[in-house]
Amino acid sequence: MANEHLSDNCIFCKIIKGEIPSNKIAETEKSYAFLDINPLSEGHALIIPKYHSEFFHQLPDDVLADMLPLAKKVALAIGLDNGQYNLLQNNGRMAHQEVFHVHFHIIPKPNPEQGLIIGWPQQKFTAEDLKKTLNRIKEKL
Ligand code: 5GP
Ligand code: ZN
Repeated sequence: MANEHLSDNCIFCKIIKGEIPSNKIAETEKSYAFLDINPLSEGHALIIPKYHSEFFHQLPDDVLADMLPLAKKVALAIGLDNGQYNLLQNNGRMAHQEVFHVHFHIIPKPNPEQGLIIGWPQQKFTAEDLKKTLNRIKEKL
């Protein structure tokens, strides 16, 4: 994929171009996988598109379709002893995004202390509320 889709002032674009070093795991024509520099657990990896976009929903479908098979390959290669890990993709500052170039994290969960630790603050929605939400979403599809 040509450099026309990469940005001059993005840290992950610079990694793709080789202007900043990275521990590359693998790459395809459209995606690049490397180790996270501040891992939550051993093997914590990032899969990024060779296409600068801040958010998941801005990526072209063909690029997205290339990323997940690479993520699967990397997840298998990480060699998770207990088979437990999280696939994480943050969009927006409030949603914990720090680097504004789309990335999927693969985060091994070797034990309760290491890897991703998340809150799960479940809200109360009635069956009627859920139906309203469903209709709102379906109208926009
Ligand atoms: P976010 O919070 O945006 O989902 O995650 C950004 C991730 O990128 C963090 O886990 C952070 O450690 C990683 N990261 C930031 N800068 C670099 C870098 O220069 N090299 C590598 N390998 N990882 C980085
Ligand atoms: Zn970028």
